[in-house]
This record gives sequence, structure tokens and C-alpha cells, in this order.
Amino acid sequence: MEPGHKRLKVMITGNRIAEEAMQLLEKNCIVECTPPYLPTEELAAKVAAVKPDALLVRVGKITRAVLQASPNLRVVAKHGIGVDNIDVAAATELKIPVLISASANYESVAEHALGLMLALARDIPYLDGRVRGGHWDKTTYLGRELFGKTLGLIGFGRIGRRLRELVAPFRMKVIVYDPFLWERGFPADVTGVETLEPLLSASDIVSIHCPLTAETRGLIGRQEFRMMKKSSLLVNTSRGEVVDEEALISALQNGEIAGAGLDTFSKEPPEEISRLAKAGKTVLSPHVGASTEESIIRMGVAAAENILNVLAGSPPSRECWVNPPG
Ligand code: NAD
Repeated sequence: MEPGHKRLKVMITGNRIAEEAMQLLEKNCIVECTPPYLPTEELAAKVAAVKPDALLVRVGKITRAVLQASPNLRVVAKHGIGVDNIDVAAATELKIPVLISASANYESVAEHALGLMLALARDIPYLDGRVRGGHWDKTTYLGRELFGKTLGLIGFGRIGRRLRELVAPFRMKVIVYDPFLWERGFPADVTGVETLEPLLSASDIVSIHCPLTAETRGLIGRQEFRMMKKSSLLVNTSRGEVVDEEALISALQNGEIAGAGLDTFSKEPPEEISRLAKAGKTVLSPHVGASTEESIIRMGVAAAENILNVLAGSPPSRECWVNPPG
């Protein structure tokens, strides 16, 4: 980038990103980070004061007011891929491209989903606590294998497809519900279903990998839990709001399902986690599916490159562009 670009400003909503990515940005731009999870009005005020040319979105809500707060704003880059915290419709109207770090984190999230499946099936966090507490459950404990079980994938994009590859050695039967891929068809070793019900009623583990949209908010609610096997496990590494959390608490309490592994929650950080944590068998992590040493570098560099590319006047990469014109 030319020296004239030196004064361009990038605002990161949250902490500094990977050092490799910070260096890329700082070589070309002035970079400022906001505290994580700023209330929207405070974030809008910060944006209005700094007038960044680019927003690099980690956490917090990027509303229309935030987007309009900087007259210089030319690009919004998500550090990751879920854009549910960005008002994409408003960005489109304002002709601001919204870009994601498309292929940077699917491996890490798929591995995390597999980790939650194993942690639940073999009660690893629970047993760890028992051993540390001086208990020795060798003669009483029984876990369950993943081998040969049925895995239901809701959403068959980058993460869902990778998880299916990761479970191949367990010879699981894989059922997929993804209405956007239905017409194109699915690989031969996967059973595609047109509605959720057959997936929910047949699966031993249901793992969610669709985006949070108007259609998927509350996708798994009271009715859906009743369709699931009592022995089944739910894994959610997508977005908390895809699952109706109150319905999940009831389903765990009433034994409608056997357990849940959750990386994402309807409110983050959760205000009150104890009801969910105590409702039944749960394994919980703080939205860290993508937080690995490897993925954090890939996400940061991809987001930085997306920004520098647009600020240099080049068209955004198609794979990353969420709101291309037309
Ligand atoms: P992707 O865009 O590659 O795949 C999403 C798939 O969901 C697509 O195939 C799409 O057709 C499908 N889909 C859309 N609406 C659906 C619906 N109503 N029902 C079923 N399927 C539907 O995305 P990805 O990279 O696989 O990521 C999936 C989601 O995982 C993201 O949207 C994000 O919310 C979440 N995510 C979480 C973390 C984490 O740290 N836990 C990290 C990255 C992504």
C-alpha cells in the first residue's frame, strides 16, 4: 500500500488480534481497539470520535447507528464467519462491503464439536472432577461409544462437512438437514433429509452448524426436543439463539434428551448460567470453538487482508463477500 494510506484508520471491536495480523494492519494503518462487548451506544460514540475507514469486528453489535457513525467507513471485516452481530442489510444499503474470514476457522470448530461429543459420551469433565475429589468410579461408571451411532448434522457447510470427515473412523451414519443444499444433493455416504423431523428422531447426536438467521432462531425448541431420542445428545457450536435455551433446560430436566455440549449461548457472556448448568448432563465452553493458536492467526490475517485489499481499491474476494451487489 502507498504511503498515503498510512493515515487510514482501522477500529477493532475487542482485543488485539494475532500479532501477525496486527503487524499487517499497523504497517499500513492506525489501529485502535475498543474494550470487548461495549454497549452499542458507547461503540457508536467511539466510532463517531475516531471515524475509522474500516471496522474489524470481533465482538459487540454492529448496528446501523454504528455503521453510520463513521463517514469514512469503507469496509467491515468479521474476525470469523458469523455475521449475526452485524446489520448486513444496513451495510448493504450504505454500500459497505461486509467480509468474513471464510475458510479460517472451520477445522478448529469441527474439532471442538467432536471434542464436545466425546466429552459427553464419556463424561470426561464429570469424571475428571470425581477423580480430583477422591472418588474412583471404575466399577460403576459406563460411558458410550460414538462408533456406529447416528450423527445428525443441521447445516452442511464448511464446519458440518469437516465434522463428517472427522467422524469417519467412528463409522457413524450421517444424516444431514440443509435446505439450501437439498436440490444439489448430498455425498453418497450421507443421508439428506428434507425436513428436520427424521433427523431428530433418528440421531444419537445432533450437531448444529447452520448460521443464525431469522429462519434458524429458535430452530430447536420444545417440539423438536420431543422428537429426539431420550438417549440423544445435542451439540451446539453454531449460535446460542438457534436453540431455545428455556426449552433446552426443560428437555434436560425432563429427560427428553440425555445431554448437551454447548459452545454458544443465547446471551454471551451468559447472565445466569446455573439453571442450564444444573439442568442435566452438560459440557460447556465459552464460545471458543474457533479459538486455537492456528485458527486465530488465520482469522486475523484473513480479516486484515480483507480490509487492506478493499482500502487499496481492489474488489473484495468473492468467497469472503457476504453482501455482493446484485
Ligand atoms: P457455512 O456458511 O460454510 O455453512 C452453513 C451451512 O448452513 C450452509 O450450508 C447453509 O446452507 C446451511 N444453512 C443455512 N440455513 C439453514 C437452515 N435453516 N437449516 C439448516 N442449514 C442451514 O458456515 P460454517 O463455516 O460451516 O459455520 C457455520 C456456523 O458456525 C456459522 O454461521 C457460525 O454461526 C458458527 N461458528 C461458530 C464458531 C465458534 O467459535 N463456535 C466459529 C465459526 C463459526
